[in-house]
Amino acid sequence: LNAEGDNLSQTDKEVEKVLRPKSFSDFTGQGKVVENLQVFVKAALQREESLDHVLLHGPPGLGKTTLANIIAQELGVGIKITSGPVLDKPGDLAGLLTNLEENDVLFIDEIHRLSPVIEEFLYSAMEDFQIDIMIDTGPNARSVQIEVNPFTLIGATTRSGLLTSPLRARFGINSRLSYYNADLLASIVKRSSSILNIDIDNKASMEIARRSRGTPRIANALLRRVRDFAQIKGDGHIDLEITKYSLESLNVDKYGLDEMDNRILSTIIDKFKGGPVGISTVATAVGENAGTIEEVYEPFLIQEGFIARTPRGREATALAFEHLGRTKQNDQGS
Ligand code: ADP
Repeated sequence: LNAEGDNLSQTDKEVEKVLRPKSFSDFTGQGKVVENLQVFVKAALQREESLDHVLLHGPPGLGKTTLANIIAQELGVGIKITSGPVLDKPGDLAGLLTNLEENDVLFIDEIHRLSPVIEEFLYSAMEDFQIDIMIDTGPNARSVQIEVNPFTLIGATTRSGLLTSPLRARFGINSRLSYYNADLLASIVKRSSSILNIDIDNKASMEIARRSRGTPRIANALLRRVRDFAQIKGDGHIDLEITKYSLESLNVDKYGLDEMDNRILSTIIDKFKGGPVGISTVATAVGENAGTIEEVYEPFLIQEGFIARTPRGREATALAFEHLGRTKQNDQGS
């Protein structure tokens, strides 16, 4: 059960599709981002042009794919979906591009994982709606230019720091999604419950929301697991009691932290006396990439008050000590 959705089963993925909001008005949260996108979509529609290319970045499970689909829907155009690691031959990309209808959306998930060759190839497509294709090989090899229909590239990434600057510069619209607060997640849980015909009360929705690491995908997944417990161990109705029982059985952290979050905190506390410690030192100690910690884990830990950023590095807060059941040692001085 992680935010990447890696270990989601086929049925989980089907349910995810059912739960996906279909329009801006159906999409909860991310206020400013959504407001701005609505303006850009309206303006493009009025001018009868393709929408500028859009980069959506932020941690997994916050709604990037959902928003890409909504944008296409609101533009009244088609959408083709692919991802960075899947696109490995320029021919594949050329095939996709030449099949786009006017103003369609091409959605590339994990766009930071495009190969340099494909990326190069995308530049002229994004800029001039043209692609250069090599035909023939050997002495007869030559490149021909092919026009493609105007389109909107929507790129999604959890690691915008890994995007090359020429690629980043080609996106006219750049939106960052942030973690959801518990109230927003509770309303997402309620919305999902009504779609799935689940009987849940407000306190239970709030409890699931609080333990979902600020992430709609996790909230929806927990809701379905709690439903299982309510059905088998209770009378089907989801109240606070069965919710707490289920989440404890699933070993879900009281604050919604995942295993890596807790590892980061215990490393700072146990190995570095609570900090301050540099991010790359923490990264080495927990065996994760420093960029991933900075872009995926740390923003949530800071938002929820477990880590503070200081000029000398990261520090674990009193809340972090309390959560891990450690006592803060007095500063020995330097
Ligand atoms: P990402 O592409 O950022 O990893 P997705 O768009 O796939 O995330 O969202 C994961 C799931 O979370 C979707 O199935 C959707 O049901 C739900 N979800 C995401 N954002 C929202 C939202 N703002 N309101 C309601 N549900 C959402």
